[in-house]
Amino acid sequence: MSAPRTSKWYIEYSSPFLGHMHGITEILSSVRTKFQKMDIVRSGAFGTCLILDDKMQSTSSDEFIYHETLVHPAMLSHPNPENVFIIGGGEGATLREVLRHKTVKKAVMVDIDGQVIELCKKHLPAWHQGAFDDPRSRIIATDARKYLEETDDVFDVIITDLSEPVEEGPAYLLYTREFYQTAMARLSPGGTLSLQAGTAAIPYLLNFSAVYQTLKSIFPVVAPYQAFIPSFGLPWGFIVASKRNDPRSLREEEINAGIETRINGSLSFYDGIAHKGLFGIPKHVRRELESSSIVIEDNQPLFTYH
Ligand code: SAM
Repeated sequence: MSAPRTSKWYIEYSSPFLGHMHGITEILSSVRTKFQKMDIVRSGAFGTCLILDDKMQSTSSDEFIYHETLVHPAMLSHPNPENVFIIGGGEGATLREVLRHKTVKKAVMVDIDGQVIELCKKHLPAWHQGAFDDPRSRIIATDARKYLEETDDVFDVIITDLSEPVEEGPAYLLYTREFYQTAMARLSPGGTLSLQAGTAAIPYLLNFSAVYQTLKSIFPVVAPYQAFIPSFGLPWGFIVASKRNDPRSLREEEINAGIETRINGSLSFYDGIAHKGLFGIPKHVRRELESSSIVIEDNQPLFTYH
């Protein structure tokens, strides 16, 4: 006998014509912070979920796919990442993955929303796993763009784990050419940036291709890749941009050796074979990325539908 369907649905809209429905079993926290709407809920399919401004951020079932994908290609393509800067990443899971790297001496995480960090600490312990208390961590609640514009510090890797650029949300000015120029200036000579860049599926490739072209106007190496994130219901776009290091040049054995010697603990998603799959973007998506002519600027920002 099949179980009755739940009557409580959260729908994440990718456009007026496409949405993904999640059956909700419990609401753990629902607040409007100074910067955004924040919900922590349990979904019958994916377990605990963090949702900001109605956009799914991560879930307890598949956050390892997103966070390993965002962090390790950039970290392993850098020969010796010691100082790392994390933009956003309120759940603490990006910080957790960065701190697994034995080379890391300092990880500065700047998320604009202190209330998101506090509620994630309380409700999402499986995400951060104590990363906020690691002696190498420095956690700052302010706008990461302002912070990077004002600091003199230099970082080997900058990881942008930002919410999507929704209109009137706190993140859209960190997807522009001016912001990427600031990030470039704060990277050490072989420095590397990685970020999530939105949906990687037709017909919604506008953001991924615009972020790709915007980064290409600044960085000599720009390597797009994608992973399917089950709770997002779509393949998701990521990009490594660097002054020198190209993750696409790493062979399967080099990735596996890097994981073995440089990372504490074991990974669940990422290894040499997965790395080749991530960067093996299909032909029609590559064509869309290359043919876009949009460069995102402060006075011409790009917004995600929500
Ligand atoms: N996994 C994610 C996704 O799918 O979009 C991103 C996760 S993480 C929770 C996004 C974080 O970016 C949030 O905690 C939010 O507060 C932070 N954020 C947004 N705008 C920011 C800004 N201007 N400076 C620093 N952090 C920001």
